[in-house]
Formats: sequence, structure tokens, C-alpha cells
Amino acid sequence: MTRPDARPVWQNWGRNVQAHPARIARPGSTAEVAAVVRDAVAAGHTVKAVGAGHSFTAIAATDGVLLRLDRMSAILATDTATGRVRVQAGASLHALNPQLKARGLALPNLGDVDPQSVAGAVSTGTHGTGDKLFGISQAVVGVQIVTATGDVLEIDEQHPWFGAGRVTLGALGIITEVTLQCVPAFLLHAREEPMALPAVMEQLDQLVADNDHFEFYWFPHTEKTSTKRNNRVPPGTPRQPVGRFRSWLDDQFLSNTAFEGINRVVAGRRSWIPRVNGVAASTLSAREYVDDSYNVFVSPRTVRFRESEFAMPREALPVVLDELAAWFGAGHENISFPIEVRFTAADDVWMSTGHERDNCYVAVHQYWRSDPTAYFAAAQDIFTAHGGRPHWGKMHTLDASYFAGTYARFGDFVAIRDELDPGRTFSNAYLDRVLG
Ligand SMILES: Cc1cc2nc3c(=O)[nH]c(=O)nc-3n(C[C@H](O)[C@H](O)[C@H](O)COP(=O)(O)OP(=O)(O)OC[C@H]3O[C@@H](n4cnc5c(N)ncnc54)[C@H](O)[C@@H]3O)c2cc1C
Repeated sequence: MTRPDARPVWQNWGRNVQAHPARIARPGSTAEVAAVVRDAVAAGHTVKAVGAGHSFTAIAATDGVLLRLDRMSAILATDTATGRVRVQAGASLHALNPQLKARGLALPNLGDVDPQSVAGAVSTGTHGTGDKLFGISQAVVGVQIVTATGDVLEIDEQHPWFGAGRVTLGALGIITEVTLQCVPAFLLHAREEPMALPAVMEQLDQLVADNDHFEFYWFPHTEKTSTKRNNRVPPGTPRQPVGRFRSWLDDQFLSNTAFEGINRVVAGRRSWIPRVNGVAASTLSAREYVDDSYNVFVSPRTVRFRESEFAMPREALPVVLDELAAWFGAGHENISFPIEVRFTAADDVWMSTGHERDNCYVAVHQYWRSDPTAYFAAAQDIFTAHGGRPHWGKMHTLDASYFAGTYARFGDFVAIRDELDPGRTFSNAYLDRVLG
């Protein structure tokens, strides 16, 4: 797509953010990234790398020089003894996961899709679910960053900025290489089954503690949920993937094709939503399978939506869900997308939503053709009343004054940004808002 003034148009996956970069560069090496940064600074441009554009916030937007690192997607080194893998930052998780498997390795935990670039996923604190597990950034043991001077900075575990270098929001520079601490490749046994919400909440502590990865989707205006329990199986367990027809029926047809059709219809007839949600939840039947970890974590997502997600202390979850139910009950708006609930353990990454706190995550979604403003604002009010920390890549309206009180190391992170990028080469309107 090209505008009349010949500037390219960039937009994110959710189609709620657009930008008009002055130019797009596709460097093929760290040295080329450094040269692009130096040239951009000399020309008075800002610089931003984008990954797969899977952030719903304008965190990746730029009117300056946009960097695509798709030519920098190789695995550079593998240490099978330690499980450490050095990758170029532009590698997509989709391409990386099978390459790790071929080396007998895997990432310990993943979110629910895989098109993201390694740098993009790491920079916003992308996470999945797991009582004793963390977001992807916790697997990072080293990053290489091209700074605003065009210098190459290596941050490893010994570096004083290690806590800042793993979730950077793209604010410290262009990440060119990442070292990941992987684990031996593993299979997961997946058990998916519908459960009533009161039963889930009654057994929640046990469900979260007894499963490696527990999450559930709650269908608004109903008491129906779909639960997912994923657990590691002993080495030698054979794969039993979902059959091709069942996979097409559940993952393609019901979860995507039929769901898209339903959303198109109810976008114009919102009073139907509560009944439709009840029927949609009932079509999901139980299933079990065993597959490579990444095939179990990741599902296809072809229905476009917008999302807001906050991390909160786990004990807040029952009240948060009650308050959301009360908002639905008050008849403000009918919502067709299920609410996703996940769990992670506390980490030591300064700007991670998991920083020093065991969290539950509650994610609200809205079909992309429907306005999410009122729903997400109401949800944000509920989440922030419980110490909520928004996912950096998912919609929220909070600013630096809120984060200064929510992240213990916020001031330290901002000080490093001031030192590395005093001229704000890597900034944009979103970063100006959230970092000040
Ligand atoms: C359908 C869908 C499902 C999702 N599921 C999950 C989920 O399960 N869990 C979860 O936590 N999140 C999820 N997300 C959010 C997503 O993981 C994050 O927004 C992630 O940052 C997107 O990665 P990306 O490669 O698209 O990065 P982009 O959105 O393109 O960029 C994100 C940030 O990273 C920066 N960046 C990218 N590359 C570099 C680089 N080389 N150097 C410096 N900065 C860089 C960008 O400038 C920007 O600040 C989902 C999003 C979508 C659309």
C-alpha cells in the first residue's frame, strides 16, 4: 500500500494502528543495523524495529525509519551442553520452534500464537501460562543491542542492566541478537474440557498448582468455560496429535471459520450475543492429545480482534471476574469473545508484568469490526483497582505516572533509557506516554 506522497503505510495485525514511516530498511547484519541507525540519526529521523506487528498498542509505530529484521533470522550458535542458543533477533517463533526441536531443544513456555519475532515477543514481555513458569523474556540470558550512537552493547547475566535488557519495550535500541536458555525438547499432554465457571473457581488453586500449564476461557454472559491443562509427559511417550479432521473441525472450523461468521452476524445484532455465547461454548467438547510442546501451546488465530490484558495478583482473580460479570449484568454491552485467564510465577525482569509477583492474567477481546473503547475502559478500571499491569503490547490508556507506582524498578529503567537514548531516537508517541 502506498500513499499519494509515496510514503509506505504500515499497520499492525489488529488494524487499529497505522504509521507512515519515512523509509523502510531491511538490514542483514548487526553492522548494517548500526549503519542505518547512524544514518537515521544524522538525518534527524527516529528509528524503530518492527516484528510481526502483533502488538495492539502503537508500541511499534514510527514515522521515522522502520527496520524489518526478516533477513536476520538465523540461529547463530547452539550449545547443546547448556541448552543455550544464540539467534538473530528477527527470527519468528514459528520458524524457530522446529529448528530448536531439530537440536533437541525447546523454549520452556510460549504464548498462544507464534508469528511474533523473537525480539518483538521478548520486548513486550510475551507470556503463556504456568504456575511455576514465566514469560519468554525469562529465558533470555543475553541480548545484543545497537544503541543510538551506533555502538553494539552486549548485555549478559553479569551486566548491571540485565534486569532492564530483557523487556525493553524497544526503548533502549535495536536488538540484533538474543541468547535463549532452552530446555530439552518435550511433549505435552493436552486435556481440553468445558467446565462451569463456579467449579473452576472452586478448584482453582488445585488446577493451577497441579498442572504445568493451566488456563481457561470464560464466555461472557454465561457461566461456561473452556479449560486447558497441558502437562509434560515422561520421555519416550509417543505423540498422539489431534486427528486431521478433528483438528480442522475444532481449530479451523469452530474456533475460526464459524466464529468469524458468528462475529460478523452479532456485530449488527448484539442482543443475540448472550444466547450465541451459550451455544458457542456448548459446541466445544472435551479432547486429549499429546504433541510437541510448541504445537500444543500455539493455535491458529484467523478471526481478527483487538485485545487488552492485565496482570494482577492471583488472589484478586475471583473479585475481578465478579466485577466483570457485574458489568456485563448491568447491560452496558454484550461481548462475544471469551475472556482468557492465565497464570505465571514472579520473575526478576524490571519491566515484566511478572516482576516480583505471582500473577493471574485476564485478557479481554473485541471483534475488530466492533468498537472496544467502552468495554476495555471498564475492564481497565477493574484491573487497575487491583494493581493491574497492562501487557505492553495490548491496549490500555495508562501513562508513566501510573507505571512509576506499579513497577519498583521503573525509575532505574528510565534512567538507563536516558543514558542510552538521550535524543529519543527509539521513541514514539506510545513510549513517550508510558515512559515519560
Ligand atoms: C493473535 C495474537 C495473539 C497473541 N497472543 C499472545 C499471547 O499468548 N501472550 C502474550 O503475551 N502476547 C500475545 N500477543 C501479543 C504479542 O505477543 C506481542 O505484542 C509481541 O510483542 C508481538 O511481537 P511482534 O514480533 O509482532 O512485535 P511488534 O508488535 O512488531 O513489536 C513489539 C515491540 O517490539 C519492538 N521490537 C521488535 N523488534 C525489535 C528489535 N529487533 N529491537 C528492538 N525492539 C524491537 C517494537 O519496536 C515494539 O516496541 C498476541 C498478539 C496477537 C495479535
